[in-house]
Amino acid sequence: MAIKNYIGGELVEPVSRAYLDNVDPSTGQVYSQAPDSDHRDVEHAVAAAERAFPSWSRTPADERCRLMLRVADALERDLDRFALAECIDNGKPLKLAATLDIPRAVKNLRFFATAVTHFHSESHVTDGVALNYTLRQPRGVAGIISPWNLPLYLFTWKIAPALATGNTVVAKPSELTPMTAYMLSELCRTILPPGVLNVVHGLGAKTGAAITAHPRVPTISFTGGTVTGTEVARTTAPLFKKVGLEMGGKNPNVVFADADFDAAIDGTLRSSFANQGQVCLCGSRIFVERPILDRFLTAFVDRARKLKVGDPLESSTDQGALVSRSHVEKVGRYVELAGQEGGTIRCGGRRPDAVSPRCRDGFFFEPTVITDLPVDCRVNREEIFGPVVSVTPFESEDQVIDFANSTDYGLSASVWTQNLSRAHRVAERIQSGTIWINCWLVRDLRVPFGGMKNSGVGREGGLEALRFYTEPKNVCIHVAGS
Ligand code: NAP
Repeated sequence: MAIKNYIGGELVEPVSRAYLDNVDPSTGQVYSQAPDSDHRDVEHAVAAAERAFPSWSRTPADERCRLMLRVADALERDLDRFALAECIDNGKPLKLAATLDIPRAVKNLRFFATAVTHFHSESHVTDGVALNYTLRQPRGVAGIISPWNLPLYLFTWKIAPALATGNTVVAKPSELTPMTAYMLSELCRTILPPGVLNVVHGLGAKTGAAITAHPRVPTISFTGGTVTGTEVARTTAPLFKKVGLEMGGKNPNVVFADADFDAAIDGTLRSSFANQGQVCLCGSRIFVERPILDRFLTAFVDRARKLKVGDPLESSTDQGALVSRSHVEKVGRYVELAGQEGGTIRCGGRRPDAVSPRCRDGFFFEPTVITDLPVDCRVNREEIFGPVVSVTPFESEDQVIDFANSTDYGLSASVWTQNLSRAHRVAERIQSGTIWINCWLVRDLRVPFGGMKNSGVGREGGLEALRFYTEPKNVCIHVAGS
């Protein structure tokens, strides 16, 4: 089956007629083809988005909202089909796609469709001399680049606020997971006006780069790795684009001795291994206060060993496949490096024997817990983005804050303690865009979301996203008689 680009309201082949193999990570087999698009396809998509912009940007917010809600409803009706497609395309457990990825995609569309009907701008009265009011106008064609780990979830998280605020979009999903964005474009075809949303599939370095470098795409929203983000920043800076960068993380999980022990184990297990550890917010560095270290390790390793690595289609599976052969090999290399850096593998550390006959060539990796690593070693500083975590003891609040802040990243952190004052103190001092206290991945779509340091520039979510996709323009009216 061949995926098509979605340009100007039509599903079209790439200009080159060339396609990329799309692999099912759970079997290692090619199961579909995606367009290997280039700058010519991007040019067509930008032209279509430009043609659609005057009308879409003048469409009343209520009407844009109504159309986007129809897309959300259609997606929700088709939830099972989308969840299955996401599972096959990405390797994640079907139950995760059905309970997290696709429902959240529906929610993203609904949230931003309705948010824009509540969006307001400011006015300032200047000492009886003037009245200033701020227009918030859509910026034109938004270029959107999204990653493979939460394919439709993050794709919709980015296109929804762009469309709701009246921009038109040229979007590129990851070439590794193009399927659900394609299926969404099939749904949109019957609902959105032509050219409002355009989806161009292809390689990052070719298709993605053609979008970020395009002179008539003034807004770029990127989610992906920090190395790619650096390239996006380098390309867009001299073109003076407005750019949002959501990038990698190496997030700390801090467990104090006074934490609710069972809740800390449950939460830390989930934040370590959810989606095979392939969530930018996963907590891959676990710091445990010395008095409870042995108890924590025993319980945590025991629970990690019990996670069932298996066929993502099976409902009993906790851990599906990693996204690609090269990624599972990269994760394996980090575990080898951990050995060289003095680490002790407490569980996992290898690719399992065939999890089932169907999945014998799949890209699976066992949940892995490593101890005895120096805090500043590479395994503790670099993003592995797989089911691999380290556990390190700490002696004091000051020390663990230093540990937590000791990487170049600053995306999120979880802190487990029952001492409210300490929770506030630690939250204030950890350099991350999101701090969870006694929880992980509790998401309210209204809150600012993004990273500090090498994890990101700018914020998404709620008003931040609506502001990102609009240009504030101040209008100053002289007040008569003054
Ligand atoms: P990636 O390799 O950086 O790719 C992200 C996207 O950028 C993909 O669509 C990719 O296309 C495209 N791309 C690659 N090179 C490009 C270029 N030169 N110009 C423009 N686009 C280009 O990241 P990934 O491996 O897909 O995703 C994992 C990373 O994303 C991790 O680091 C994770 O932490 C991060 N992430 C961050 C957040 C957050 O909110 N902060 C959320 C999720 C994931 P191809 O796939 O076709 O190469």
